[in-house]
Amino acid sequence: MTVSPKVLDENSTINYLKLASGEWNESLIRDSFVAEEADAIISLPPSSSNSKDRLMWHYHSSGVYSMRSGYWPSSSSFGNPSCAGLSCSESWWKFFWHLDLPPKIKLFMWKACHNWIPARCNLMAHGMDLEVTCLICGKSAEPSLHALWHCSSLKVLQNACVFAAGDSSLDCAPFGEFVRSCSFKMKVTDFERLCVIWWRVWHRSNMAVHNNILLPVSDICAWVDNFCSDFQDANVSGLGVVARDSSGQVLISLCRNVKANYQPQIAEALAIIEGLRLAIDRGFSNFVPRLSNKVAHGLAKLDLINDDVSVWVDDCPLYVEDLIVGEVPLSL
Ligand SMILES: [Zn+2]
Repeated sequence: MTVSPKVLDENSTINYLKLASGEWNESLIRDSFVAEEADAIISLPPSSSNSKDRLMWHYHSSGVYSMRSGYWPSSSSFGNPSCAGLSCSESWWKFFWHLDLPPKIKLFMWKACHNWIPARCNLMAHGMDLEVTCLICGKSAEPSLHALWHCSSLKVLQNACVFAAGDSSLDCAPFGEFVRSCSFKMKVTDFERLCVIWWRVWHRSNMAVHNNILLPVSDICAWVDNFCSDFQDANVSGLGVVARDSSGQVLISLCRNVKANYQPQIAEALAIIEGLRLAIDRGFSNFVPRLSNKVAHGLAKLDLINDDVSVWVDDCPLYVEDLIVGEVPLSL
């Protein structure tokens, strides 16, 4: 890990790094710190209060060093020593952005990993004068990791996800490191599910603090499973094709799943390509533009519950039979 050279005077304060407007003096920061540290500083909103600078121990929410909190950074490799420092962080985020999760959950996780969610310790670290005790359990200070995982009110959830149980070295870790550690121990799909759990836990916390409604923790897993299932379904587009002869008889019909959530126009264009391929394969000629769109649409919807491509020669599935009869193109 690279450490910045001592460019600044040792009596320099945070205010020295800010412009008169209160914004960060980015060029001074970049001249004074290595890129990793400069990025970390600039990624934080500058405090608007003029409170005195204080030295804070990064690895505990109180900002005070203790033997226990010192243990974590000294063993921060978590069994993956090749993964310390900036290069790992970059490659880990690349892995993270490619996860199959809705953008809103990725954004939430990015904020949470950078302590940008308004957990009470984060608010205090950004200059708010408040009590840092968790408002739900009332027992401990509330950094991000407590709000999203260690709160005693989440005991049922922790018991249901045993991957991190018993690893006391994680108790004082920043949430981002805890998340990364979990990702190393889990299957990708399980880790994706866990990200949705954290998102839901944060929703529960907001409901408790702002609406005075404490949702039962025991419902979170079932809610998350439903959410993941709906998300997977929404990520599938169905293509449906039907070809008739001049008397309206069905020559062939097809439906296929495509694992992507396409815009309707794109899905329609893909269905046309699929139809043309099918027609060429079957030796059809003299195509007439679409006149059986309801049937094709019905086939597209049908395929959302099937896994593979399905083709019916001289036939169509029972599901769209009514549509076939009702939509016989009389003009043919
Ligand atoms: Zn709590």
